[in-house]
Amino acid sequence: MIINHDFHLHTSLSLCASRDANFDFFIKKAKTDGLAKIAITDHLWDHGVDGYQGRGGNFYEVQDFEHIMALKSEIDRYNFEGGEVKVLFGAEAEYSYENRRPAVTPAVAEQLEVLLVPNSHTHLTMPKDFYQPYEKHAEYMIDAFMDIVNSDVARYITAIPHPFMAVCCPYDNRILIDLISDDSFKRCFSAAAEKGIALELNPNYLKKKEFEGYIRNEVLSDMYRDPALRMFRIGKECGCKFTVGTDCHGYEGDLDYSYIYLLAGLLDLTEDDFHPLAR
Ligand SMILES: [Zn+2]
Ligand SMILES: [Zn+2]
Repeated sequence: MIINHDFHLHTSLSLCASRDANFDFFIKKAKTDGLAKIAITDHLWDHGVDGYQGRGGNFYEVQDFEHIMALKSEIDRYNFEGGEVKVLFGAEAEYSYENRRPAVTPAVAEQLEVLLVPNSHTHLTMPKDFYQPYEKHAEYMIDAFMDIVNSDVARYITAIPHPFMAVCCPYDNRILIDLISDDSFKRCFSAAAEKGIALELNPNYLKKKEFEGYIRNEVLSDMYRDPALRMFRIGKECGCKFTVGTDCHGYEGDLDYSYIYLLAGLLDLTEDDFHPLAR
């Protein structure tokens, strides 16, 4: 099986990305990495949904739909002229806990070819007093996941990016995955599978491990038993499809696709396990 796509890329339109991460950077990178399809997915809070004010400083005051649309004509022109890589226009829309829904309206969602909505941007969306006890943090992500897959934009959602991997967590975020029961994961992933929402394979699940360790069998077997692998196996059993997303912000992660191959291999994934858009 060949990894032919990357559906999670941030250009310099995302305030947190490298200033050099422009459209050409990703085309060049896709060719080098042998990808046939990529999706540009800058951060988005559609201002048709309230609650963006003051979130992450002025982050979501800037990252509205008009802002990310700035690349649309360049993407259209490139595809129209028969560019070698197929480029999809997408977004990583935020989840709003106050509204119990994705921060994107159906009117905007239908204009996106790839829509990602994370349940794990807890550093931006979760009340700070949910960090302890850990169970509260884990439950927050379960609630967010269910809100996302049951929302009025669910049919437009391609995948949940970095599912249950709490971003910028002040403690080891794997603890949280361990705290979630098989039954809770089954409830979430059955609902996602029913809506055709995929789970993203993201290299960050493995990145924190020492690379030198990979060639040692006992470390590979540790990885086989990793909490994140338990989660993805349940997703696969529930009938979820997968997408690949490196979450590249313009800084090269040379091993990113090796990690994806490793994840896909440890999960015994075949082409049929990937989202139809990726095939
Ligand atoms: Zn994210
Ligand atoms: Zn992202």
